[in-house]
Amino acid sequence: MIQNIRFNMSCFHLTIQQNLGTFFSDNTAMSTEVITNFIHGKAIAPQVENFGDVHNPSTGEVIAKTPFSQAHDVDAAVESAGKAFPSWSDTPAPTRAKILFECRRRVAENLEALSQLICEENGKTFGEAKGDVTRGLEVLEFACNIPHLLMGESLPQMAEHIDGTTSREPLGVCAGITPFNFPVMVPMWMFPLAIACGNTFILKPSEKVPQCANRLAQIFLEAGLPEGVFNVVHGGREAVETICAHPGISAVSFVGSTSVARAVYEQGTRAGKRVQAAGGAKNVMVVMPDAERDSTLRAIMGAAFGCAGQRCMAGSILMGIGDIADPLKEGLVSEMDALTLGDTSRDRSVGMGAMIDSQSRDRLFGVIEKAAQDKVQIVRDGRSKVPNQGFYLGPTLFDHVSTDQTLFNTELFGPALCLSRPSSLDDAIQQINRLPYGNGASIFTSSGAAAREFSRKIQCGMIGVNVGVPAPMAIFPFSGWGRSFFGDLHVQGMEGVSFYTRKKVVLSRWDDTYVRKQGW
Ligand code: NAD
Repeated sequence: MIQNIRFNMSCFHLTIQQNLGTFFSDNTAMSTEVITNFIHGKAIAPQVENFGDVHNPSTGEVIAKTPFSQAHDVDAAVESAGKAFPSWSDTPAPTRAKILFECRRRVAENLEALSQLICEENGKTFGEAKGDVTRGLEVLEFACNIPHLLMGESLPQMAEHIDGTTSREPLGVCAGITPFNFPVMVPMWMFPLAIACGNTFILKPSEKVPQCANRLAQIFLEAGLPEGVFNVVHGGREAVETICAHPGISAVSFVGSTSVARAVYEQGTRAGKRVQAAGGAKNVMVVMPDAERDSTLRAIMGAAFGCAGQRCMAGSILMGIGDIADPLKEGLVSEMDALTLGDTSRDRSVGMGAMIDSQSRDRLFGVIEKAAQDKVQIVRDGRSKVPNQGFYLGPTLFDHVSTDQTLFNTELFGPALCLSRPSSLDDAIQQINRLPYGNGASIFTSSGAAAREFSRKIQCGMIGVNVGVPAPMAIFPFSGWGRSFFGDLHVQGMEGVSFYTRKKVVLSRWDDTYVRKQGW
């Protein structure tokens, strides 16, 4: 059991009774919090009628209510961010970097508490939650290099007496719309770099995990970020559509499912905005007969069942080439049977947490039911091993999954792995390249030749060689292809800097003809 770690979040939460007397008729209401927006450095309760439940996935309890902000709430955030932009964009980059260094120090100081908050609202294990914050911190660390990252190019004497220079200029107000599965890391893919570049920012986090965003906003404010530079608006579709159409917003970053990514890309670009929109995925892990056993099994377990399979880089299809498929299955099953499920908000020894909500769990229950009807071989059925509260699904394994089955072609986004048995590496590569997504693919092998062949021929943006989750660190772009990404410039790395800036070219002529000899 762990100590109860709580932030002082009084400025972000109002009790239900203060705000929503109609929700509850007795005093139990006091324990449920109402999330507020964060605009111009202040907690602002949006004047809305619709609220969503925020659950602790481990127990199913409602731990907070999140508002579904409306167009006028987004307008207020845009006004705040627009007001803050002239002075923030004019602040010297080294001064902005100093503030970001202090933000970094404070986020690191809050690592434990932020991780606990992630366990409570997302259901990850504590170790996974720490990874969520740590990967976000890496982007912030990258953003601290901003004076260097923003440097332009110059060519003196590019023509007779003419010098040329380029500089990177901020865009204005940028917005980010994020999914539930990484409540800290995915928002931090976006806003640290956007504000480092001199933009101001509005974050619309997932309505399922609203608390971390407010906590980050508070930390950044306390670290010296001026009011209005980073704002948070909570909500769902209406807030997102308002952001995509808003004339005061220059650029939109989105991460979530493919259908919403496509809609955000279309709506945002139609309104003349720069948009980067990362979508869903179907990632494949190929195991060659010469792969090292124990480290490969460990990597597969992490990729398939880490974060209860709710990762855009989760390994969803496992291809055993040749004779390896049976021993691979045996090894996996014994690891899966040893995995413990439990309440990650109270117990740090748990091996796998719950899914985010009852709809997600029921969707996966339905996938397993359909597979059973279709006579798919179900080696382990995770429905048989669930605690009686919370949104759990145990690790599930399907075998002999073929390329024409829905299981093979759709994102499952839960702790369910499909084993398939292509005849050769070549066959595997062809099957992978027919999938519509293009996020990640991994190969496990002792052969450099097989690894090289795989890396060169696979049509997706992030490749792992003996790495189960080939999610790149902040210095590289998070480089999805196909239906996993809509846009040109990805989050992270120099692509992130390019996304949040536009180039200006200055040509200067200094020669005698322009030195004043006589007045007008
Ligand atoms: P989601 O698409 O349901 O929600 C993402 C965001 O969009 C949320 O902020 C939500 O409020 C908003 N939204 C939802 N429906 C909307 C609608 N109809 N119109 C406008 N906005 C809407 O995604 P999720 O369930 O929160 O996250 C899981 C998905 O995200 C998975 O598909 C996963 O693969 C993907 N994901 C992708 C990456 C990546 O880098 N490619 C990273 C993390 C997650």
